[in-house]
Amino acid sequence: MTPQELERFRALLIQWREDLISTSEVRDESSGTVHLDQQSVGRLSRMDAMQSQELAKAGKARAERQLLMIKAALARIDRDEFGDCIECGEAINPKRLEIDPTTLHCIHCAQ
Ligand SMILES: [Zn+2]
Repeated sequence: MTPQELERFRALLIQWREDLISTSEVRDESSGTVHLDQQSVGRLSRMDAMQSQELAKAGKARAERQLLMIKAALARIDRDEFGDCIECGEAINPKRLEIDPTTLHCIHCAQ
């Protein structure tokens, strides 16, 4: 992979990381405790509130996982290991990296 390609992937990853951080999914308030007023909130809307809290939690966990993967990919760019399969060491198809720059495996090892 050329230095230009590496820099392009670095820019992509940094942009992606910024997008993730700016979404409410990684902010704490979206997964905070649901405060419910037993008097005014019926059973159904209470269920809705709990369900949306679960969704927010799942979204936050997913975003945090992605942030870790992005951090790892950026570290691999710095170590000049980016684009190599961690399993067999072969170059990962650039099209695969295009779809997901945090990919760690070549197509063969991913299966
Ligand atoms: Zn491989």
